[in-house]
Amino acid sequence: MREFIVKIKPLTPIWTGDENRECKTLRETGMLGSLRWWYEALVRGLGGSACDSTSDNRCPDKDGNHCDVCELFGCMGWARKFRLEIESINLAVIPKNLKIKIGTRKKRVIRKREKYLIREVEGLMADGDIILKFMPLREISQNEWALLNKILQIIADYSALGAKTSQGSGVIKIAENNLPYKDENPKKSELKGKGNKINSPNLANFFFYKFHIKFKKGISNLIDKEVFWTHQSDHYGFIDNWENWKKLWSDYHFLPIAFHIRDAIRQVEDDKNKRHEIFGELGKGSKIFVSHCYKVDDTTVEVRVWGYDVEKSIKHKIKKELENKLKEKLFSKEEYKESLESCTLTEEKTGKEILGVVR
Ligand SMILES: [Zn+2]
Repeated sequence: MREFIVKIKPLTPIWTGDENRECKTLRETGMLGSLRWWYEALVRGLGGSACDSTSDNRCPDKDGNHCDVCELFGCMGWARKFRLEIESINLAVIPKNLKIKIGTRKKRVIRKREKYLIREVEGLMADGDIILKFMPLREISQNEWALLNKILQIIADYSALGAKTSQGSGVIKIAENNLPYKDENPKKSELKGKGNKINSPNLANFFFYKFHIKFKKGISNLIDKEVFWTHQSDHYGFIDNWENWKKLWSDYHFLPIAFHIRDAIRQVEDDKNKRHEIFGELGKGSKIFVSHCYKVDDTTVEVRVWGYDVEKSIKHKIKKELENKLKEKLFSKEEYKESLESCTLTEEKTGKEILGVVR
């Protein structure tokens, strides 16, 4: 069987398990779910049809009358046009051996009792490459390859792959891509627009930001001094594991502060209901996505913030206020605030700009 490969390298842990299940290995179904989600958003942005494959709005399983996404990814009466296999070596499972926990800022009511919850940094890092093998089972059109290449590019350049991408996981780098038609732009005219469709998420309504967070001292030094916030002072029984913070930074070059950045961004919207709509509950159903921070140099990390269907005023506030809000949320003590040198927007793109490139 012919196979085409994409070699990727995780910059922050990849999560392909279900929301509540453990992720000990990279699962093809989780990876396909994420690829499909981005493919749907791109197809909608180009004016094609994309059903919601996870609800009753999925395409009907007869007559070949399915949407442009089911055409490649399959549905009940129509098989996926390719098989995906994942090959990886030396996967390091987080949190199993590198547990890092961040408490919630507020207590939540669980079975009528108020208590703080634990948020865990989870997923898999790899010492070597992770290889995604695409094996065509039927003919994949030139345009479908072009669409696949386009979403891989959006994922690698501006967003993330897999699940839990609203809580830091899934930033990747593409080390090699030998899928065909890499230089082709997807064509709107090739999309048939049949089957069921829902309108969101649509790439045309996305924004993508990258910030550089610069500290005055080396990041390993700050971890040694335990400057980062991990839990409230009355969160009894909470145990820090700074050795693991150190190991993640020295071995895998990332700083697990997506929850801090998320907490900082939450502060830009005062209205509680609106906040709920944009951020979801504990990351579920969120329209804003935040990555963990990966290394630029010894004192600087990069973070990705992206999302869709978010009001202009909120996007504006994220850009303007993130530095100040981050000072409030990143550190365990007032005196550590000055360790932050700056938080600067280094790149911004709209989904429309990304679509504009594709004519
Ligand atoms: Zn469909």
